[in-house]
Amino acid sequence: MAVHKIAVIGGDGIGPEVIDHASRAAQKAAAKFDNAELAFNKLPWSTDYYKQHGRMMPVDGWEVLAKHDAILFGAVGSPDVSDKITVNELLLPMRRKYDQYVNLRPSYLFHGVDCPLKNKAPGAIDIVVYRENTEGEYAPVGGQLYVGMEQEIAVQTGVFTRKGCERILRAAFEAARKRRKKLTSITKSNAQVFSMGLWDDVFAVVRKDYPDVESAPLLVDAAAMDLVRKPESFDVIVASNLFGDILTDLAAAVTGSIGLASSANINPTKQFPSMFEPVHGSAPDITGKGIANPLAAILSAGLMLDHLGLAKSAKMIRDSVAEVLKDGKVRTPDLGGKATTTDMGDAVVAAL
Ligand code: ATP
Ligand code: MG
Repeated sequence: MAVHKIAVIGGDGIGPEVIDHASRAAQKAAAKFDNAELAFNKLPWSTDYYKQHGRMMPVDGWEVLAKHDAILFGAVGSPDVSDKITVNELLLPMRRKYDQYVNLRPSYLFHGVDCPLKNKAPGAIDIVVYRENTEGEYAPVGGQLYVGMEQEIAVQTGVFTRKGCERILRAAFEAARKRRKKLTSITKSNAQVFSMGLWDDVFAVVRKDYPDVESAPLLVDAAAMDLVRKPESFDVIVASNLFGDILTDLAAAVTGSIGLASSANINPTKQFPSMFEPVHGSAPDITGKGIANPLAAILSAGLMLDHLGLAKSAKMIRDSVAEVLKDGKVRTPDLGGKATTTDMGDAVVAAL
């Protein structure tokens, strides 16, 4: 039996609540359908850890993580500790340190889920966003002058490199090739002429290698509108760090709930571990109530199985989630029901 080493960081808020169910479902699927074992290493890195130790992870944290085949991640963030610490000491540096330059976020309208848009058939919305994950608008470049003197000046610089644009565009084109062969490249190059201009230039070059994929550029404001007006027109969307972040929240909303939105932070060269996490955050407003929807985390664990080469169990995770949603007996409050996190986790494990 092949053994895959998985680091599990539940983190804060509903993170640990949903990640437990994701681990359980993934373990069962891997054993049953791919004869593989997932060896979990639970790491308590979180805001609580920070309050005790003054840091989000131990000094050798990055070396510890690097020894794993993948990372399953809940969420970090807490109302009483600044995001400057929680997010900026763990989540954002991980994406750069492990060169997880692809942030893959699927959005799918499942049977049995109420779509806020009128007349959308199940499956009609089937989008995957390839978000650039290591540079762009989230590059830690900038600063503040005259801090606390009521005349502060803040500068935050977007960093776009030819290499960075090219590799995310290529990854997205490769994905489009395996799907419906349609790709939309998102920018705001009419206003951000330098950085987005470079992105457009690279797009024009890369698309020549994919004549079989129908590809077009689209401005981000128009894309936001089209995601609501005609979401079925999209297949693969490729976007910068900030635009990808915003559009995926919108795509999650049009497919029913942020509680269903999964994501993967992938290092395609496999030199470093990739990380799998629900799109949602720590959700302090519902923490401890036992009502968080674990499906986003479970679907993220499915993406992890795919990345580990366990294609059959990955598909079974997705099919089991689809079956539970279609059946409709078990629904958490975000889907209009009264079921608990555990009810939902149990239903998926039973369907598996
Ligand atoms: P972050 O900054 O980490 O993205 P956020 O402040 O944007 O976090 P979330 O934690 O994602 O916010 O929560 C946004 C809203 O969605 C909250 O009202 C929360 O309760 C709800 N929500 C998030 N995740 C889930 C879930 N798994 N199930 C049900 N509701 C959820
Ligand atoms: Mg958010």
